[in-house]
Amino acid sequence: MTKQVWAIILLVVCLGNFFSACANNAKYGDWPNDDKTTQLEPTSTLTLDEYKKESGRTDYYKGLDSILEGFTLDSYECVYVSERAVVWVVKTEAPEKYSAEGEKIDAAIREIETHLNTSLGDHYEEAEKVHFFYGSTWAAFTPGGSYAKPVIFMPLASDPHSFHNYAHELTHLLTPQHSSWVAEGLAIYLNDKFGGEGGYPNYGADIDQLALSYINQTDILEKVGDETYYPSRSDLRTSVGKGFYIFSGSFVKYLIEKIGIESFMQIYYAPDMQEGLEKMTKKTLQEWKTEWLSYLLSLKE
Ligand SMILES: [Zn+2]
Repeated sequence: MTKQVWAIILLVVCLGNFFSACANNAKYGDWPNDDKTTQLEPTSTLTLDEYKKESGRTDYYKGLDSILEGFTLDSYECVYVSERAVVWVVKTEAPEKYSAEGEKIDAAIREIETHLNTSLGDHYEEAEKVHFFYGSTWAAFTPGGSYAKPVIFMPLASDPHSFHNYAHELTHLLTPQHSSWVAEGLAIYLNDKFGGEGGYPNYGADIDQLALSYINQTDILEKVGDETYYPSRSDLRTSVGKGFYIFSGSFVKYLIEKIGIESFMQIYYAPDMQEGLEKMTKKTLQEWKTEWLSYLLSLKE
């Protein structure tokens, strides 16, 4: 299903030397390291409806709707291949604007791998590169696991993207997780950890202080810890989405600072996260949440 879908979208590689820039020579061909179960005819377009039908995961992809609307591979060209990434840009853009992005992506991947003691190869096929498509409405990624290709969508760069623009989405890619609050929380935590100007939703500002400013928004607060909640497109346009990201970032940071990143990652990958947390820390998620909220309130004093 999803695997096939991405095979359809991405049955395009830059032929020739895979480690060098490859402007203007994108051709249809075999996906590198692809398994042999997806021998589909290469095609240049996939409508949103086709995509939904193939993936069967319309809820999960809710936020991707506006990105995938009108997505056609024909409108992209491969402009650069780095050690870890393949850079695709809509043809209306000047390719040279994006030729330096590959190295920044490589650096971000290396940082995340080191920090979380993980590797892209743990979740995707060995030596697979991350494909970046520039030209979407907002940043997004495809979910990991054996059914997906490592793909990230990015908006066009009015200025060159910074290292931090990549850290958030790459964290998602390198740490596949179905629960939105915990996945977003980790991506925000890590982006902050790398310093600098940070990224959405706090852009380097103190995430706990921001969370404190939202603390009376109980309708948003109750979504944190709820594994069935995924921010919808309309949520992301309002303070609901922003508040959810801020709370998730602050709560995950609190947990990591209390139990350590290694224990946190063990819980993160537990089949049942809440159960894993309780087993390891002897406290329920609700108890942790109460403790975290008291901590936030103590910042007021
Ligand atoms: Zn995210």
